[in-house]
Amino acid sequence: MIHRLQRIVQEVNRALDTDSALDLITESLTRDLNADACTIFLAKENDPGVLVLKACSGLNPDIIGKVERRLGQGLIGTIAARAEAMNLIDAPRHKDFLLVPNSREDDFPVFLGVPIIAHRDVLGVIAVQRDQEAFNEDEEAFLTTLAAQLATSIERAESEGRFRAGAVTHVVRGVPGAPGMAIGEALVLNRGVNLESVPNKKTKDIDGEVKTFSDAVRKVRDELYEQAEKMRAALPEEEAALFVAYAQMLSGGSLIEDTEKRIREGNWAPSSWRDTVEAHAHVFEQMEDSYLAERANDIRDLGLRVLRKLMLEQSPYLDFPQQTILVGDEVTATDLADVPPDCLAGIVSTHGSSSSHVAILAHALGIPAVMGVPNLPVKQLDGVKLVVDGYNGSAFINPDKAVLKEYGRYLEEEAAIEQDLLNLKNVPAVTTDNHQIRLLVNTGLMSDYTPSLRSGAEGVGLYRTEIPFQVRDRFPSEEEQFQIYRNVLETFKGMPVVLRTLDVGGDKPLNYFPIREANPFLGWRGIRITLDHPEIFVTQVHAMIRANVGINNLEILLPMISARAELDDSLFLINRVRAEIEEETGEKIWLPKIGAMIEVPSAVYQIDDICEMVDFVSIGTNDLTQYLLAVDRNNENVADLFSSLHPAVLKAMRQIVEGARETDTPVSVCGELAGDPLGVMALLGMGIDTLSMSVGSLLRAKKVILSFSQSELADLFAQALEMPDAFMIRELYASRLDERGLGGFIRAGK
Ligand code: PEP
Ligand code: MG
Repeated sequence: MIHRLQRIVQEVNRALDTDSALDLITESLTRDLNADACTIFLAKENDPGVLVLKACSGLNPDIIGKVERRLGQGLIGTIAARAEAMNLIDAPRHKDFLLVPNSREDDFPVFLGVPIIAHRDVLGVIAVQRDQEAFNEDEEAFLTTLAAQLATSIERAESEGRFRAGAVTHVVRGVPGAPGMAIGEALVLNRGVNLESVPNKKTKDIDGEVKTFSDAVRKVRDELYEQAEKMRAALPEEEAALFVAYAQMLSGGSLIEDTEKRIREGNWAPSSWRDTVEAHAHVFEQMEDSYLAERANDIRDLGLRVLRKLMLEQSPYLDFPQQTILVGDEVTATDLADVPPDCLAGIVSTHGSSSSHVAILAHALGIPAVMGVPNLPVKQLDGVKLVVDGYNGSAFINPDKAVLKEYGRYLEEEAAIEQDLLNLKNVPAVTTDNHQIRLLVNTGLMSDYTPSLRSGAEGVGLYRTEIPFQVRDRFPSEEEQFQIYRNVLETFKGMPVVLRTLDVGGDKPLNYFPIREANPFLGWRGIRITLDHPEIFVTQVHAMIRANVGINNLEILLPMISARAELDDSLFLINRVRAEIEEETGEKIWLPKIGAMIEVPSAVYQIDDICEMVDFVSIGTNDLTQYLLAVDRNNENVADLFSSLHPAVLKAMRQIVEGARETDTPVSVCGELAGDPLGVMALLGMGIDTLSMSVGSLLRAKKVILSFSQSELADLFAQALEMPDAFMIRELYASRLDERGLGGFIRAGK
């Protein structure tokens, strides 16, 4: 059964459009379930309360598009309304049965229907029918499993189809990644090269494109002949011959001719090749003979080889739109670096959430980002106009005049707000009842330094040292690290600079230090890696302490502390490095202040022990929220559950503040919550007075601080703790922010 399921799901995912995908499903199900008929109803886009027949097999095809059922109407409407399967031996006798006239439906009284549900929305219903013999439990389970597996593909195909049909202002929704808005042009990334993710693009340089294609084909063919030669020594002749067979497929014939034809129709080489490969593979897949059906995989394998070569030959990023919106299934931190900073206007990604590192980076760069858009029609978007709303997590594809006008106005209003905020640069961050708050920046990028100083930052509260590690293809040497740290310490001379030791693992991989784990966030991360590799830790600390000589503003922060032993070991190594440098230089070297990140629940419960060992603690609300709520910070499927304003997270933070108070240990917050205007209100209310955030959030946070008294926020915090969930707490703070006329900080428009 699993093979049948896999085959159908794969075929549907490869189908070129929604109609062919739905036809494939109805045909396969009629065959695999030994049914006489199969129908698929899908909810209407503009009226989800009505389902319309989109595909059928075994019934009169003239009824497609003509039969509609409201929720609760007929068997189909009842299945959709109750989101529950129905298995009937005699459907016409059921009280909800409603005959579809001229369909031949009454010939097949045995009925099984299941809802298609994605992200809690009922997208439609799949039903199979036959003339006798009830559908058994296995068949019901099969159909239910298939509907669940196909739901996201159908959702996405629908979205692509609607978009292709030329609908103006197609709205897609995800989660807010980084605040702000942008109007720009989509640039689809070609990173993780695979056939499915090749975007459609038009070309004017037909001859150039044909040449690129021929060159790529020739190179792959030559490589295959070479491989065949090498393999002859190691493999039986029959196996080695496979490479020759592959090479021959690239020596002319329909694969090449069909692709060239598609290019001559104005398509760029990669999508022309993709469509040719898919069409050929599909022909093989339809063959009854299992050996021949398997050849479809060979064609795809060959397709991928040529595609990889093609993508290397192409340099699609030469002309960046003035306002580039990066679009992709997976936009990564290094993708951002590919776009010239003055062109990068926004990000829209199928995967990820607000605390994914790419979203944090976007925030640091002041770029709006929408993450976790499940039905993003990525392939269709290259070159298309987009409006990105990073406040509510939505994007408008092909926006019409009204949307453009509205967002044009919002952008003007936002520019006015930003202009006003510039006046606050030199104003101290003090509440109306005179509580002074220290505002620091989170960074790791040199490009942040000048804006940070311009915004009046009082230092660096979190320097993510992993960023310089991530953009290299090997560990940076001690001297390279020394230069980087010296630069930031000097730039912020006279102000504290908190350098965090290497925090890789989880979702922050190093290409040159691969870690393969089933649960990376519960695995080898942060301090766990560097203590297991003291040579990395010691080199880094050595560079930090040397860089601090004569400047003396360094503080060192240790990430992912989950046990006292990790602190003991880290402190031992740091002390050893200090002694070594003293010996090397013959000078007295002061130990910098050492802090621990509190971002793992065990550290919350050991806060008093930890505070006895360090000079300060810094709360990492991103990981603390992830670990307390058991919600992967990167997973768009649970992004709605990720909220640092959840009462459990607020209570944990209060416990940290109270625990640290006993030893007078300073507490700061450096997770994303510290830069969220509502977060600022909550954190001040619980008595925190040092916040470290992306530079783009700093002046807004200051404005919030200037608008409230600490005592008002303390009262509000007490109320928040009484509330049952994050949604209500957010509303509580948002309405108070609105009352002060600052609603424009958390949404588009004033
Ligand atoms: C955090 O977890 O809140 C934090 C600041 O660290 P990072 O986001 O780099 O994991
Ligand atoms: Mg963290």
